[in-house]
Amino acid sequence: MCNREGLSLQRGMNFRIGGTHSVILMSVRPNAPYQDRVEDAGSTLIYEGHDAPKSTSMPNPKLVDQPEKSRTGRLTENGKFLRGAQSYKAGVKDPELVRVYEKIKSGIWSYNGLFRLIDAWTEFANNRRIFKFKLRAVESELNINKTRTSPEVPTRMIPTNVKREVWRRDGGKCVVCGSDRNLHFDHVIPWSKGGSSITASNIQLLCAKHNIEKRDRII
Ligand SMILES: [Zn+2]
Repeated sequence: MCNREGLSLQRGMNFRIGGTHSVILMSVRPNAPYQDRVEDAGSTLIYEGHDAPKSTSMPNPKLVDQPEKSRTGRLTENGKFLRGAQSYKAGVKDPELVRVYEKIKSGIWSYNGLFRLIDAWTEFANNRRIFKFKLRAVESELNINKTRTSPEVPTRMIPTNVKREVWRRDGGKCVVCGSDRNLHFDHVIPWSKGGSSITASNIQLLCAKHNIEKRDRII
């Protein structure tokens, strides 16, 4: 993950970090700090906004509203993503493109694909205001520039339990060369060609090199 984004991501929400896209880190693990959830069979992500930073004057951020602005009046990441969604809904901007990474176990992140930020709102939970962001998966990064002329098919995330099963089965290594670095969850038969995202038998671990080699062959 860090190699791909060219930096080490400390924060879960990073608006426009790459110049052309944003990056968020999600987790649906039971002990995750935020309630992210997957809908529509994996094509939609409902992502929770983030709390105020913990500090001596803010010992328990979970007890207060998630902030839209910092104390100095600058937009927080919640505020920036909210503005992005509002601009899109108002028809003044294209939807923000967001790369989504998911923590599948400690120290192991998987790329869940590219999404569009299409909605945002606040809601009350446990007596405080939290942000929610709705993101829809985009078929592939190659399609970004083609979407005005061709209807797009939403893609789907590989469910977390399938990823964990595949990780265990493949021993955390590329099935071609045994590398344990920069691994990707690869569809044996591509999703766009009818391959399943929900059975471990159609998913395998590949290193970045073998993932790209395979993609080049298919395209
Ligand atoms: Zn490999």
